[in-house]
Amino acid sequence: MCQIFTKNYTKMSNKTKRFILPEEEIPRYWYNIQADMVNKPLPPIHPATKQPLKAEDLFPIFPEECCRQEMNQTDQWIEIPEEVRDMYKYYRSTPLVRAYGLEKALGTPAHIYFKNESVSPMGSHKLNSALPQAYYAKQEGTTNITTETGAGQWGAALSYAARLFGLEAAVYQVKISYEQKPYRRSIMQTFGAQVTPSPSMSTRAGKDILTRDPFHQGSLGTAISEAIELAMMTPNCKYTLGSVLNHVGLHQTIIGLEAEKQMAMAGEYPDMVIGCFGGGSNFSGIAFPFMRHTILEGKQTRYIAAEPDSCPKLTRGKFEYDFGDESGLTPLLPMYTLGHNFRPANIHAGGLRYHGAGVIISQLLKDKMMEAVDIPQLETFQAGTLFARAEGIIPAPESSHAIAATIREAKKCIETGEEKVILFNLSGHGLIDMAAYDQYIAGNLQNYRVTDDDLNKSLADADALNK
Ligand SMILES: *Cc1c(COP(=O)(O)O)cnc(C)c1O
Repeated sequence: MCQIFTKNYTKMSNKTKRFILPEEEIPRYWYNIQADMVNKPLPPIHPATKQPLKAEDLFPIFPEECCRQEMNQTDQWIEIPEEVRDMYKYYRSTPLVRAYGLEKALGTPAHIYFKNESVSPMGSHKLNSALPQAYYAKQEGTTNITTETGAGQWGAALSYAARLFGLEAAVYQVKISYEQKPYRRSIMQTFGAQVTPSPSMSTRAGKDILTRDPFHQGSLGTAISEAIELAMMTPNCKYTLGSVLNHVGLHQTIIGLEAEKQMAMAGEYPDMVIGCFGGGSNFSGIAFPFMRHTILEGKQTRYIAAEPDSCPKLTRGKFEYDFGDESGLTPLLPMYTLGHNFRPANIHAGGLRYHGAGVIISQLLKDKMMEAVDIPQLETFQAGTLFARAEGIIPAPESSHAIAATIREAKKCIETGEEKVILFNLSGHGLIDMAAYDQYIAGNLQNYRVTDDDLNKSLADADALNK
């Protein structure tokens, strides 16, 4: 099945600021980059038997259609169910915006565009995957879904999607965010989800973690362990994940597929595509549809993932098999990792505090199809503040990593005088993160660069798994 690019768009005026697609132009298929990759990602393996997993092995945990999508290395295009497309229409297409204000503030000859995913009802790109995951779960007769959430964006999106499709949602929220970001918890509860801070005493995994360390502040790794355990112990309950996995990145390609058409409306094509990086879903979403042209037609585009220097799996992690969670309940995944026991500093970009990268991204980085940069916290808040003043949108601290990387590149263009076209993904707004901005304004934020010693320590357990 083939995605039909219906139009040769006529270029709009040079001063057009915002590009929106008519409803009938919203893509009807997601793009599955696995089908086009020259080197396919290595398979996930069973931790005990060390055998490669098949889609069926994941059926007890995830909705079955998600498992098939996870392992699909043959179909380039996967149809978006009509019920999901109907819900997409409430907020898609999201605008592609020419950031004239930011260009002017920087004095750069670069043309900067951003895809504004912050206009979704939940304020971030997460809903793009929450909707299909809840839909597939419902289709398959599931009544309950469970998940983890860090800063709360994924939990909020999933709680809403569960409500839409008539499912009960149980969310494990990383304890430190549960305490620091009470509004995200209230959002989830408003949609009717049950929210538990992780690690908790409600699961075996949580109890074990708390026995080892009663003051554990929680991490995505601990929350994933608890949510998976709940899904495995509860009948008619499936687990969902908001990042890292292939099918999540697949759902997010709606971002880049729209952006491709919108860039055509602007009469431009990006020299660089930039996204912030937690587990890889929004970066995959914006980058893969463009990377398709690099793989198939040799288009010269740079793809840059921006991660925090306090959680630098792409720039300083190691490519090896590791667990996706703290307790070792997930399959072993071949990925760039900091070790599943890595404890990232409490930076405000909670959505980027994950120890590993998705397996597709990991393979692409290994094959030098993309690049990564790591950015200190203070630079991201500087960038976010500059962007807010220039464009009127307060970015999520996660998204500010993409903005900071964009600003670095736009400044290089000042030196060289090149009019490079830069496209970045604004993954979300920061209106529920104002406590973080308060601390920045008060001068109370700091950088947390990881030391080599810490990295070597946290990688020891992962190294042992690869012996
Ligand atoms: C969750 C989140 C991220 C990080 O997750 P990815 O899967 O790497 O995209 C980035 N930005 C926002 C706004 C988020 O909510």
